[in-house]
Amino acid sequence: MTKEWNTRTKLVHEGTRRSQYGEVSEAIFLTQGFVYDTAEAAEARFLQPGNDEFIYARYGNPTVRMFEERIAALEGAEDGFATASGMAAVNGALTSMLRAGDHVVSSRALFGSCLYILEDILSRFGVEVTFVDGTDLDAWRTAMRPETRAVFLETISNPTLEVIDLRAVAEIAHSVGATVIVDNVFATPIWSRALEMGADVVVYSTTKHVDGQGRCLGGIILGTREFIRKTVEPYLKHTGGAMSPFNAWVMLKGMETLDLRVRAMTDSATHIASALEGDSRLNRVLFPNLPSHPQYEVAKRLMKRGGTVLSLDIKGGQGPAFKFLNALKIMTISNNLGDAKSIVTHPATTTHQRLSDEQRAILGITPGLVRVSIGIEDQDDLLHDLKQALDAI
Ligand SMILES: *Cc1c(COP(=O)(O)O)cnc(C)c1O
Repeated sequence: MTKEWNTRTKLVHEGTRRSQYGEVSEAIFLTQGFVYDTAEAAEARFLQPGNDEFIYARYGNPTVRMFEERIAALEGAEDGFATASGMAAVNGALTSMLRAGDHVVSSRALFGSCLYILEDILSRFGVEVTFVDGTDLDAWRTAMRPETRAVFLETISNPTLEVIDLRAVAEIAHSVGATVIVDNVFATPIWSRALEMGADVVVYSTTKHVDGQGRCLGGIILGTREFIRKTVEPYLKHTGGAMSPFNAWVMLKGMETLDLRVRAMTDSATHIASALEGDSRLNRVLFPNLPSHPQYEVAKRLMKRGGTVLSLDIKGGQGPAFKFLNALKIMTISNNLGDAKSIVTHPATTTHQRLSDEQRAILGITPGLVRVSIGIEDQDDLLHDLKQALDAI
């Protein structure tokens, strides 16, 4: 019996396909199409492509396939379908399986574009969506109906880092036969236990930690072979959300160092969150691995460690928050996360600007809230940068 590889080995080797040249680094198969030796071979491939056979890059491509197999092995999923962006993955997972008359239950604290798909797009096609407070299990129970086909949630919400009890929600969802789809970006593919906790489908924006160096957009839908090949693939191959081979190659290279980066970023985030907790300039430090976090116990079950993002609620609101942001010397103001570079975001005026004051209040997005995505820089330098910026208020 061969031993199953551990994470770091999988991240470097899993899914590798070598051409006849025996290249060390994965090849970029920058090709749209594939040729067939004979007309009969073309006919046979269209009927049922074999394991190493491709038809057209919108359906699949060897470089993309390497990436899909590598990340599926990491997550412990049977199969995966890579997409052009994280949003193409969220849309693909939901739209491929839903039809008019279906009902969806979703947590309310969602990434803006996810909210748009659930609230605006699905309703146009006759799918009804009920939004609940993701941390309220009774609300999930009450929202379920016999026709509930899917449950959607972000395991850790952006930017307030609320943690959902995935195991409990999955049990509630499965009792009516609903498919549990999770957007798992904040838990990261390294610390995730989503499938173990009962998720049926896991979606990532690989734009975040997987690339991790601010270059390419990408996404992945992970699930059973049946779901990926029978439900997701037909939808995506005809609607055109495929990942480009070049981006898949960048993602493959990102995977090689994913564990090293996420571990270093998590170490720093944990250190910085503890060091800043109790600072007189802050109302709160939000980080899932702090014992003061409202869902600390739930977070410990959901993920092996606290992740790479923390949020600071700065006393005095937007004015002091802006002063703080403008005084940072290492950390840059942007809206990505999971990057090698530390990035700060003011959600109330950027990513969550579209929401009303009331909606922001419900989600806990106060005017003083700053999201901090910790990068791979030296943790003492980062802590020093944050402290000198707090002093500047
Ligand atoms: C970034 C993000 C997305 C969207 O990903 P893109 O790659 O930008 O399309 C979806 N969900 C969450 C939680 C994200 O952080």
